[in-house]
Amino acid sequence: MPQMVWSAGADGRNDYFNRQWHEFTGISRDTSRILNVRNLLHPKDVDRVTAAWTHSLVSGEPFEIGCRLRHRSGEYWWTLTRARPERNASGRIVRWFGTCTDVHRRVQQQRMVRESDALNRSILDSTPDCIMMLNLEGDILFVNQGGMRVLSIPDDTSLLGTPWIDLLTPSAAEEGQGALDIARGGGRARFTVMATTAEGMESWWDIIVAPVVGDDSQPSSLVVISRDITHQKVSEEQALWAANHDVLTGLPNRAFFQLRLDQYMKHADKADSGFGLLLLDVDNFKRVNDTLGHDTGDALLRTIAARLKLATRAEDLVVRLGGDEFAVVVAGASDADKIEAATKSILLKLGEPCSGTGRLLECLASIGASIYRPGGMDKVELLKQADIALYAAKDGGRATFRIFEPAMRKEMQRRLSMLSVAREALRRNRIVPFYQPKINLQTGRLAGFEALLRWRHPGRGIQTPDTMAAAFQDASLALEISDRMIALAIKDVQGWIRAGVPFGHVAINAAAAEMKRGDFAERLLERLATAKVPTRCFQVEVTETVFLGEGADYVEHALRTLSAAGVRICLDDFGTGYASLSHLKKFPVDIIKIDRSFLRDLHHNEDNDAIVRTVINLGKGLGIKVVAEGIETPAQSAYLRKHGCEYGQGFLFGAAVPRKDVPTMVAAMSARADRLKSTSLLASSLKIEVGGEGSGIIAERGAPPLCLRPSTAAFARQGKAARLRRARLSR
Ligand code: C2E
Ligand code: CA
Ligand code: CA
Repeated sequence: MPQMVWSAGADGRNDYFNRQWHEFTGISRDTSRILNVRNLLHPKDVDRVTAAWTHSLVSGEPFEIGCRLRHRSGEYWWTLTRARPERNASGRIVRWFGTCTDVHRRVQQQRMVRESDALNRSILDSTPDCIMMLNLEGDILFVNQGGMRVLSIPDDTSLLGTPWIDLLTPSAAEEGQGALDIARGGGRARFTVMATTAEGMESWWDIIVAPVVGDDSQPSSLVVISRDITHQKVSEEQALWAANHDVLTGLPNRAFFQLRLDQYMKHADKADSGFGLLLLDVDNFKRVNDTLGHDTGDALLRTIAARLKLATRAEDLVVRLGGDEFAVVVAGASDADKIEAATKSILLKLGEPCSGTGRLLECLASIGASIYRPGGMDKVELLKQADIALYAAKDGGRATFRIFEPAMRKEMQRRLSMLSVAREALRRNRIVPFYQPKINLQTGRLAGFEALLRWRHPGRGIQTPDTMAAAFQDASLALEISDRMIALAIKDVQGWIRAGVPFGHVAINAAAAEMKRGDFAERLLERLATAKVPTRCFQVEVTETVFLGEGADYVEHALRTLSAAGVRICLDDFGTGYASLSHLKKFPVDIIKIDRSFLRDLHHNEDNDAIVRTVINLGKGLGIKVVAEGIETPAQSAYLRKHGCEYGQGFLFGAAVPRKDVPTMVAAMSARADRLKSTSLLASSLKIEVGGEGSGIIAERGAPPLCLRPSTAAFARQGKAARLRRARLSR
């Protein structure tokens, strides 16, 4: 027999073991005689086995128990131990015959299966994924607890037997059906679907459908594992969104713009159409940011972004390039008219009152446009052209729109070179003020000087401000230039005061860009105080452009501060540009300067004649002094004097001269005025020309020129009156 066989007496004592038993236990025949089998049992089985054996001995019922018996290897092996009693004729038990079957391997396998079952169950129940078993038809056989949670069902019974495909949205059903087919054929399918949760939220699922292969190596059922990847999907989408969008306005960003521009160009080439590219720069944005704070600046940008979206069509593209720059692609606009129409509606929308930020803000932008025509140009050129047009637009004031024209490129280069000229002149300390005299037309006496910017070119000598005119409009350069001019003018004035030169006053020109800086007046007054220069020695000339646009309130503050401190304010180029009488009422203007263009053909041009006389009367009426600039002929001078113009300035009296010639000029003019007074000659016959540096030439109509010798500097040092007398004598 393959089994272990044993027998025992009616009392239960073992009296026989077969060979298999000895082989299993490794116990010899001799030892087995004195052995208590209990000692071979697993300690945990002893009590159970003893109880059952005792029960059988007493009751005579067959004995059968699974227990662990010590194998010769020292391990306990599972056995199935059975015994039956042998009875005599009277029915009394005389002996027990038993077997012991080695079931160790089987028990172990069963246990492993049980454990593995438990493991599977625990995995199935603890995973957050939804796991379902389907039959080959696709009906649900099983749903794990994770699935029940996901599907919000208390138990799986409600789902059992229903087709899995019914759980998918109609749009995903087709993909689901395909996956089932693949799995039925033994393959593994994977796809992503979007579903809507009971709360109406979007959720995303990664779904795997795989076969469960049966004994015949054929799919016997299917398993579907669905994983919620909404979180991952959302963060993926967020990352993608963030890489391509501007957080503040929600508009696409520059990176996205670059990509899309390529697409627009490709499409235009293919469709043989074009599109317009608009670059927008918010007007005065830096001011808003600096003066009203970044929150207001941000709000303004958001408003502009929203309005741009409203003013454009769905097929157009609106992006924020960064800072206060935006771009709009006007799809399909291949000619100037279409682009202009699109821009008009944008400017109109932007121009609406903007009060969302708690205060009324101007929400304007300058726009430069370029046109893409199929096969036309590359992206860099397209952007460059729009940029050049934007530059030209910004030059034209606020809310201006320009389409690129080739001439703009030259103009921009010219302006850029002016900026670099200004920078270079500043860096190399080449900027100096020259001083042009202003005359009291009625008395012929010197009234003061206007400081005009000059710079020394190393090869070409003294240059006039038109070579760097663009710099006066550049906020930072204008400031630097003005700082330099003011510092030098104050220094010169200081020197003349010390030397006792009666120069009257010095007027400096202030550009709009510098006036609109918050502390212009305070800085100027502080410097005058530090240099101990009386404020009445200083005038500030501004043109009416400073009153226009945003920042006018700062200009008003600056002018009032200066005026209150005794610095007189002169309104330059009066009559040109934006002349408005309200400016004269609103701002503390002491002097107006009739622009020199009105002095042309005074006698023959009735308009100019009328304007000049009107301005003179206006000044009289308002108590504002009037200066006529650009007087070149004695006739002009006589005309102005006759009509009561108080002051004059122009080449007739002298062009601007360097600092060192000023004392000479002052002295010469004063002497001349004295003489004219005594000879009652008219001031109009006085002409002072200053040639090369260091030489002053005073000429009187009809008289030979007066040369001032020796050097003007030495002349100045010698004291005015005495020297002048000597000069007169020497003539
Ligand atoms: P502006 O303030 O109107 O200055 C008068 C200009 O007219 C000066 O030109 C002067 O040389 C010129 N001028 C004077 N008398 C006559 C005349 O009888 N006939 C003619 N045809 N012209 C005359 P300049 O020096 O070339 O300056 C041009 C402009 O540059 C100035 O016009 C002013 O707007 C600006 N500028 C000059 N210096 C400064 C400065 O320091 N700061 C600022 N912001 N602007 C300045
Ligand atoms: Ca001026
Ligand atoms: Ca002027």
